[in-house]
Amino acid sequence: MTTSIASQLELLQLEIAKSREKHPNFKDNVRLVAVSKRQPLDKIEEAYQAGHRDFGENFVQEGVEKIQNLNKSDVQWHMLGAIQSRKCKDIAEYFDWVQSVDRIKVINKLNRAREGKPPLNVCIQVNLFGEEQKAGVVGEAIFELANRVEEAQNLKLRGIMALPPKQTEYARQVQQFEKIAELYQQLTAKYPHIDTLSMGMSGDFEAAIAAGSNMIRIGTAIFGQRDA
Ligand SMILES: *Cc1c(COP(=O)(O)O)cnc(C)c1O
Repeated sequence: MTTSIASQLELLQLEIAKSREKHPNFKDNVRLVAVSKRQPLDKIEEAYQAGHRDFGENFVQEGVEKIQNLNKSDVQWHMLGAIQSRKCKDIAEYFDWVQSVDRIKVINKLNRAREGKPPLNVCIQVNLFGEEQKAGVVGEAIFELANRVEEAQNLKLRGIMALPPKQTEYARQVQQFEKIAELYQQLTAKYPHIDTLSMGMSGDFEAAIAAGSNMIRIGTAIFGQRDA
C-alpha cells in the first residue's frame, strides 16, 4: 500500500493537535519541518502542493540543488546537518534557517556571508547527553554561542535544536526532552525574544511536544524510508 504525502501530512497534523491538546497551558503552536534529505524532488513537490512550506535538509549541496529546482519563494528551508565551515557561504546564500550551529567560527562565517540579506535564523545545536558522534554543545558554550549570534548583525537567534539519544520508551523520551526544555527556559530568561525549541522526530515527537517542543522535524513519517 502506498500512502500519499498529502494524507501523511494531514495525519501528522492531527496527531500534533492531539498531543498539543493535552497541554492547554502551553502557549506555542508546534511548527512542522518536513525533513526531505535523501528524498527525491517530486516528493517535496507533492508536499508543497499539499500546502507545506517548511523543509529541512542535512547536506548543503543536495539542499542547494533542491532549493534551486523547487524554486519557490514562499518556502522556508532549514539546514539541519553538520556544518563544514567551507559550506557557510552556500548556507547563508540559500537557506532561511540554520539549526545546527555549534561553533564561533561558523557563526562568524555565516554572518559575513549573509551581508545585505534579511537575517538568517539561527538555532544553537545542543548535545546535552554528550554523544560524541553528534554535533552540538553543552554547558557554558551554549551561552557563549548564543551571545555571539545575538551580536551578529546578519543573524537572528531563534533558539535551540536538539537530537537526543534514541529511546523507545515514552517516559524516557519525555525525561530527556524535559532536560532540554529546562535549558531552553534558562536561555529565554536571558534572551526573551527567542521562540524556538526544535526537538522531536518521527519516533518521538509526541514526547517532545509533551515536554514543550514548538518545532518538530519529521522525515520518514511524511516521506517514507530514505534512499540509502
Ligand atoms: C534526519 C533528521 C530528522 C528526521 O528524522 P526522521 O526520523 O526521519 O523523522 C530530524 N532532525 C535531524 C537533525 C535529522 O538529521
